[in-house]
Amino acid sequence: MIIEADLHTHTTASDGAKTPSEMVDLAFEAGLKALGITDHDTMAGTAEAAARGEEIGIIVVPGIELSTTFGKSEIHILGYYLDPEADAIKTHMERCKSSRERRAKAMVKKLSDYGIPITYDMVEEKAGGGSVGRPHIAMVLMDLGIVDSVGSGFGKYLTEGTPGFVPKDIVTPEEGIDVILKSGGVAGIAHPGKIKSREIIPSLIARGASFIEAFHPDHSRAARKFYARFAEKRHLIATGGSDAHYLSDNHTTTIAECGCAIDVVYELKARSAK
Ligand SMILES: [Zn+2]
Ligand SMILES: [Zn+2]
Repeated sequence: MIIEADLHTHTTASDGAKTPSEMVDLAFEAGLKALGITDHDTMAGTAEAAARGEEIGIIVVPGIELSTTFGKSEIHILGYYLDPEADAIKTHMERCKSSRERRAKAMVKKLSDYGIPITYDMVEEKAGGGSVGRPHIAMVLMDLGIVDSVGSGFGKYLTEGTPGFVPKDIVTPEEGIDVILKSGGVAGIAHPGKIKSREIIPSLIARGASFIEAFHPDHSRAARKFYARFAEKRHLIATGGSDAHYLSDNHTTTIAECGCAIDVVYELKARSAK
């Protein structure tokens, strides 16, 4: 398969290391025809990316990746072609922003009570104006010399059962899909291979999910094949993307490492309300 579109990337608007414009430039250099910007719970980077895309001649697909929870399983819902000014998505973004901040503050408090000299200002500075999250806390832990990678910051201090962990406010996957649909977008399931409770997938399709991310760097060849076939059987669009963050960690993927054909972009647009 020729990779013409990378429909899953993160920027400084959430926890990516590159600005939206830089990501568009990288996509162009990689020879892509289209780039999807899917920051966590925010569309703050899509306007800048679209403007840069117009300048250099590459299609920018405005998107979002919503973090949702089903039981003990985290489920990421992707949305494309939403109207960032729609009430549903605006309200959702506000809600996520304040709950992320509350959570990050509570985690910093726990870590500081634990004896680590960390402050919320340090975390906010790492986020550089974007939405604060655990990666930024992990980066501060790295700066302080407490851990040697973002991954070990998560593993030792920021996941369930560790000293800094605070659970998230829960958004259900159904709510996530509803928000995207109400905002005129097309909704789907991100990296299904990473979902622990896959029994939920049929109900998400029934709720209005119309694509599934078959091509993701964390999917094995067999998983990609399985979900591409699954999409075909269920009349879903099979999407793909790199999930590139460009964090200074060895887990990071690069743009266009995974993706799909340009036709997928046209199909997504056709299924959105635009
Ligand atoms: Zn994800
Ligand atoms: Zn992602």
